[in-house]
Amino acid sequence: MSKAELVLSIEDLTVSFDGFKAIDALNLYVDKGELRVIIGPNGAGKTTLLDLICGKTKASAGRIRFRDQEMTKLNEHEIVRCGIGRKFQTPSIYENLSVFKNLEVSYPSGRGVFGALAFRCTDEIRARVDEVAGEIGLREHLTMEAGLLSHGQKQWLEIGMLLMQDPELLMLDEPIAGMSVRERELTAELLERICRNRSMIVIEHDMEFVKRIAHKVTVMHQGKILAEGPMERVQADPKVIDVYLGH
Ligand code: ADP
Ligand code: MG
Repeated sequence: MSKAELVLSIEDLTVSFDGFKAIDALNLYVDKGELRVIIGPNGAGKTTLLDLICGKTKASAGRIRFRDQEMTKLNEHEIVRCGIGRKFQTPSIYENLSVFKNLEVSYPSGRGVFGALAFRCTDEIRARVDEVAGEIGLREHLTMEAGLLSHGQKQWLEIGMLLMQDPELLMLDEPIAGMSVRERELTAELLERICRNRSMIVIEHDMEFVKRIAHKVTVMHQGKILAEGPMERVQADPKVIDVYLGH
């Protein structure tokens, strides 16, 4: 049997804020095509871990290897160009632009929003916008002003803006917060769809949702990994029940 290909390999990762270790000698390995979910109590270090991977926060020690490259020495833009996309908890779309424009300006052209607006819309970009709009279920809404979308649709648009860059690793922090039951269902389908040709790390609290989407679950606590494995095993782990699921 051939071993799964590692996309992300994190070893001994540590970050201290005034002596407090928010991430403490953490090891994490993500396979190609894997959808990993990270769970754990508030303050466990989940968001900080994503901040470290995307270069928003600098590590105090340790390594983050993405494919064959060390990420801890790179800045945020270089990390995006390597193929890592990250969605924050609060959506950051251009509310007064159309869905089409939001996607168009996210196409990797090396320009900011104003440069990209002046940029001629080539067939290549239009084709990519159409493809991504289909993936995120917003093909019927391309001409709509983004500010008029529902909360869930705004979240999908932001995922679409990341997909425009075709990242090999996509990281989402609590993507279904505030969504309706129907939007959650559609988001689960969306994540399954976009995971087919990339790896994903998703932070989530909703256990039904986690069960539905996770290939493997990592439980964090106090900057370390408390447990890791298939959802059924992690859910039955007394340590996990004690610090997280029992509450
Ligand atoms: P989670 O996402 O699991 O709820 P966080 O990663 O947001 O947890 O936070 C982990 C811990 O690190 C918390 O105690 C938080 O207060 C602390 N922390 C996060 N970022 C910073 C920062 N920039 N400076 C100081 N402390 C921070
Ligand atoms: Mg968080």
